[in-house]
Amino acid sequence: MVDGRTRICGLIGNPVEHTMSPAIHNFLAGQTGQNLAYLPFPVKDGEKLGDALRGALSMDFLGLNVTVPYKSDVIPYLEETDELAAQIGAVNTLVRTQGGFKGYNTDMPGLYRAMLSDGVSVEGESVLILGAGGVARAVAMMLAKKNAAEIRILNRTLEKAEAIASEINQLEGKEAVIPMELSAWKELPKGKRYLVIQATKVGMYPDVNAAVIEETSFYERVKAGYDLIYNPMDTKFMQLTRQGGGEAYHGFKMLLYQGIIAYELWTGVRISEELAAKTYQYVLEQMKK
Ligand code: NAP
Repeated sequence: MVDGRTRICGLIGNPVEHTMSPAIHNFLAGQTGQNLAYLPFPVKDGEKLGDALRGALSMDFLGLNVTVPYKSDVIPYLEETDELAAQIGAVNTLVRTQGGFKGYNTDMPGLYRAMLSDGVSVEGESVLILGAGGVARAVAMMLAKKNAAEIRILNRTLEKAEAIASEINQLEGKEAVIPMELSAWKELPKGKRYLVIQATKVGMYPDVNAAVIEETSFYERVKAGYDLIYNPMDTKFMQLTRQGGGEAYHGFKMLLYQGIIAYELWTGVRISEELAAKTYQYVLEQMKK
C-alpha cells in the first residue's frame, strides 16, 4: 500500500521499460514490511541527468539504481563515491546521505554472491574471462581481489584486454591478469579445466543461436561456465558448456543479488538466503508473464 509515508526508490536510465528491478524491490519491500515503492524513471535526454538527480534529492527519494547509459556519467553529480565503484569507474546504486547521493557498484558484489549461492568458488581457481567490455573489466577486478589463482582475459580486440590487464596489474602491484586474443584459447593447456565467465554480448536475445566460441574442443577445458547473459536463461554458451561436461550458470542470479545488495544499502535490512530464493522464484514467474 502506498500512503503519505511511502519512501521512493527507482531506476534511472534509458531505456528502462524492460527492467525487472521493480519486481525485485517491490516484492522485497512487501516481504520485509518496508513502506517503500520502486518505480522506473526514464531519463531520455542525457543533458538532463543532473536535473533528474537534483529533483530526486529534493523530493527526498531514498535511493536510485542507475543503468545504461548513465553508470559512469552520473559520477560527477554525486556527493561521494564508494572506493570499489570509483575503481570500477561505474555506479549502479545511489544511496541518500546528508549532503547528496553516495554512489556504489553492486554488480560485482552481486556476481560474487550469486556465485556463492550457486556453489561456484573463485578463490584459488583458474579463470578465463571472455570479453573486455565494462563488465569484464569489473569482473577481472573482483577476481583479483578475491584471489583467483590465474586470471586470463580473452577478447576479440586484444588491445582492450591488454588495457584492462595493465590497469589491474598496476593497481594490484603484480601480474594478476594475463591478456589474450580470443582465438588464442587453443594455446591453453589441454587437460586443465577452467572456470569461464562469459562477459560478451554474444548469445543475447534475439541472437540466441550464437556463442562467442563455437568450437566444441574449447568446452573440454571448461569446468564451470558462468554466462552473465540472462535473456535467454539457457544460452548457446551454456549448452556447449554442458555438452563438454561442465556445469553451466546464467546471469539472472547476478541481476537478483545486485538488486538485493542495493535494497540492503537503502533499508539496512539484511536479506536472508531463504528470502533471496523466494524472490528469485517470484521474479522468474513475473518474467514468464
Ligand atoms: P560491452 O562493454 O559492450 O562489451 C561487449 C564485449 O563483447 C566486448 O568485449 C566485445 O568485444 C565483445 N563482443 C561483442 N560482439 C562480439 C562478437 N561478435 N565476437 C566476439 N566478441 C564480441 O558490454 P558490457 O556492458 O561489458 O556487457 C557484457 C555482458 O554482460 C552483456 O551480455 C550484458 O548483458 C551482461 N550483463 C549482465 C548483468 C547481470 O546482472 N547479469 C549486468 C550487466 C551486464 P570487442 O572489444 O572486440 O568489441
